[in-house]
Amino acid sequence: MSALPRITLKKGKEKPILRGHPWVFSGAVARAEGDLSPGEIGEVYSGDGNFLGIGQFNPHSQIILRMLTRRKEVLDSSFFRERLLLADALRERGLKGKANDYRAINGEGDFLPGLIVDRYGETLVIQFLTAGMDRLKGIFLDLLVKHFNPKSIYERSDVPARKEEGLPEAKGLLYGEEVPESVEIEEYECRFRVDVKKGQKTGFYLDQRENRFSLQEVSQGKKILDCFCYSGGFSIHAGLGGAKEIELIDSSEDALERVKDHFALNHLGKLPAHLIRGDGFEVMRSLDSDYDIVVLDPPPFAKKKAHLPGASRGYKDLNLQAFRLLKREGLLFTFSCSHHMNWDLFQKIVFSAAVDAKRKVQLLGRRGHPIDHPVDLSHPEGEYLRGMVCRAL
Ligand code: SAH
Repeated sequence: MSALPRITLKKGKEKPILRGHPWVFSGAVARAEGDLSPGEIGEVYSGDGNFLGIGQFNPHSQIILRMLTRRKEVLDSSFFRERLLLADALRERGLKGKANDYRAINGEGDFLPGLIVDRYGETLVIQFLTAGMDRLKGIFLDLLVKHFNPKSIYERSDVPARKEEGLPEAKGLLYGEEVPESVEIEEYECRFRVDVKKGQKTGFYLDQRENRFSLQEVSQGKKILDCFCYSGGFSIHAGLGGAKEIELIDSSEDALERVKDHFALNHLGKLPAHLIRGDGFEVMRSLDSDYDIVVLDPPPFAKKKAHLPGASRGYKDLNLQAFRLLKREGLLFTFSCSHHMNWDLFQKIVFSAAVDAKRKVQLLGRRGHPIDHPVDLSHPEGEYLRGMVCRAL
């Protein structure tokens, strides 16, 4: 243990760590001793010399340290296996038999900062977002193979976040059979084909699974607008829930090709579905008011705090259009996946859209992360998905 490199924080900077936050910013560090190459595991001490825990360092990153434990223990394969089992127990209880697409490891939310593992049936897709996790690739591959016995493990570390860690983007097969163009998954009664090699994120928006299902439950006989539809997740659930007509909007041609495939795969070929390729803002403005349900699931508009004012205008505009398009008693499923958009602000934006649209609106419920995207309460930054279901009168 004593051979581990050691970081000492400035006096008074240990508070967040003592409260369980996993990140230390470079400004909080007084002294670093020993081999601190990117990804190295080392000990953390307060300014008073008290042991605070063990984490992974990266001198290239603003987040210089990510905590893994508060105890003096050896961080070997069995340590990480425990974390994997802890994560898996949650999914086993909550999702077994319902869906074979889920996030098996959700980074900080599963106490494994910087590691994402998504499961699509027998295919695992992995992202190493930090230098620390990148160095543990071998350990995690071994653990995942033993635990899940997957056909393939594919890396999708082709994300800009790696740059902040001084890492190049990386992508490719890490284990097992070559991954086909699309991997078939089952989510409740729906079937989807996921392109894990080229699709958005790791191929699918797993975080919306339960929210898609909640749409299914209210879709019987309804005319639905699915704006920012990607490969049609919400619409397929709505179709199987008995929707009578669906219009889908997305700017991605590839996504809309997948929508067509998903309608066929789910035997919804006879359901009137209109696919519109274009900008969600513009297309919505051109539509007439005639919908029972509108789904708004745009990409994140505020990836940085500085983007919030512009993002707020974007969300307001979209929600205003949605209220304009809804029939009396129509439902709006509206989402933000911007980290910096908190619940309070999002609700205010939706409210102000309702006022401008001259609609009286009831909030029926909030919709957030599913259980396979847990958020560590000590790390509220991990929460990003905020959704509201509203009824417009
Ligand atoms: N609801 C989807 C996920 C949507 S992700 C699901 O459950 O799977 C956001 C989508 O918005 C992406 O498919 C992206 O292609 C699309 N998009 C991004 N900018 C857009 C724009 N300006 N107009 C329309 N679609 C856009």
